[in-house]
Amino acid sequence: MKTNYHTHTSRCHHALGTDEAYVQAAINNGYSLLGFSDHTPWPYRQRDFVSRIRMSMEEYPGYLASIRRLQKKFCDQIEILVGVEAEYFPEYLGWLEQQLSRGNLDYAIFGNHYRQSDEVRQNNPYFGNCRHREEDLQAYLDCMLKGMESGLFSIIAHPDLFCRSDPSFDEPCRSVSRMICERAKDLNCVLELNVSGYAYARKMGQAGTPHPEFWKIAAEVGNTVILGLDAHHPGALQEDQDREAGLQLAKRLKLKLIDQIPLLR
Ligand SMILES: [Zn+2]
Ligand SMILES: [Zn+2]
Repeated sequence: MKTNYHTHTSRCHHALGTDEAYVQAAINNGYSLLGFSDHTPWPYRQRDFVSRIRMSMEEYPGYLASIRRLQKKFCDQIEILVGVEAEYFPEYLGWLEQQLSRGNLDYAIFGNHYRQSDEVRQNNPYFGNCRHREEDLQAYLDCMLKGMESGLFSIIAHPDLFCRSDPSFDEPCRSVSRMICERAKDLNCVLELNVSGYAYARKMGQAGTPHPEFWKIAAEVGNTVILGLDAHHPGALQEDQDREAGLQLAKRLKLKLIDQIPLLR
């Protein structure tokens, strides 16, 4: 089955297109399920704080309403779900838990990009390709394990983010990967083979993620894996080049691939 649980909207300030355009693209290309998982808003302690990479709390009700409307409108053609992509920010996870338990959201995916809330400017670098900074790699691993242990997330997005634009893979990478994969296996967490890395790698002119070495370890450990497009524009749902590359990698490594996740409710 052709599914994708990792779809953004223009509300996060770095994605393009109307919500409906994503749905149309998915229908046109034969998807049977489309899950929206835009970057979640957070109930920031600094009331006037505005994130440049996530929707605001004011936009959130409109996000839910828009996707639920599309869910009804296209119910004969495609299954649509509403989720968010969220970080491990312990001080704000109570809010996320509430959204899930109230049924406002169908699911949440864990996008571990930062160790602390966006309000924190110092010592809070982006985790993408943090593999050469020992302290950040350790922080990445810590957040990863705690996020998985929280039990809030249906999918662990791009678990290989730490080597996003670097094909070399040394011993620390290997040991971090193994710890992530083993804990995911213990906790029954689904790992996402995020194929948006292929487009990024093309842009950078160098291979990065999905990192074959990470996924080799996932295959050895026996993790359950799902493909994710991380669509930031409707066109990502219209072309299959990166999806096919991901499927090929999964096939070559004999990854345990699934196309649907059990929902929390
Ligand atoms: Zn992400
Ligand atoms: Zn994403």
